[in-house]
Amino acid sequence: MNKEKIKSVHDEDLERLLEKLGLSSKLRHEKLKCTFCKTIITLENLHSLFPQSGSIKLVCDRVECVKELSSLLREGNISL
Ligand SMILES: [Zn+2]
Repeated sequence: MNKEKIKSVHDEDLERLLEKLGLSSKLRHEKLKCTFCKTIITLENLHSLFPQSGSIKLVCDRVECVKELSSLLREGNISL
């Protein structure tokens, strides 16, 4: 099983991906929040995103949230 399923993308790719997912305008209007700490997500603090339960979850770049994310990955609760 590949446990490195998380999409790690940067800058242009990230913006393109957000556009594709229909999230870029939400992002611009600061309507997106970190799944873990509920911080408003911007392009500056967006660490990664992953699909869960049929929707896209965003994670900010705080150490705590990145840790949460890796434990989620370890426990295998993320499915694509
Ligand atoms: Zn966070």
